[in-house]
Amino acid sequence: MYDKNNIFAKILRKEIPCNKVLENDYVLAFHDICPQKKIHVLLIPKGAYIDLDDFNSNASDKEILEFNKAILEIVKLLKISNKNNGYRVLSNIGSDGGQEVPHLHYHIFGGEEIGKMVA
Ligand code: AMP
Repeated sequence: MYDKNNIFAKILRKEIPCNKVLENDYVLAFHDICPQKKIHVLLIPKGAYIDLDDFNSNASDKEILEFNKAILEIVKLLKISNKNNGYRVLSNIGSDGGQEVPHLHYHIFGGEEIGKMVA
């Protein structure tokens, strides 16, 4: 069951501010409050989805397309695409995945060498 009071739902409702990178009808991207790398951006869908399982099971094709296409727009804006030095996309799912905020998000890391795949 989706928790409407999670912190990203509050950001979407503008109850909490964020440092925005990109917004359209389908997604919002903003800088992580506690960056793990030089660039650390979070990309979230505007729809109420707990995680990638929930999203891939229940979102419309258009929502899935827009969510994934937004990555390209963000990395171009931040100049970290594969035409620059590249980046990493990661999504934590559930307790073994280490997910803390129960609204689907991709972490986008870049701006420096990201290092090992799993810490
Ligand atoms: P996860 O562990 O995958 O659920 O990641 C949650 C991420 O949300 C962490 O990297 C946090 O630093 C980040 N975070 C938590 N609260 C905020 C906030 N208000 N604004 C931006 N990022 C946040």
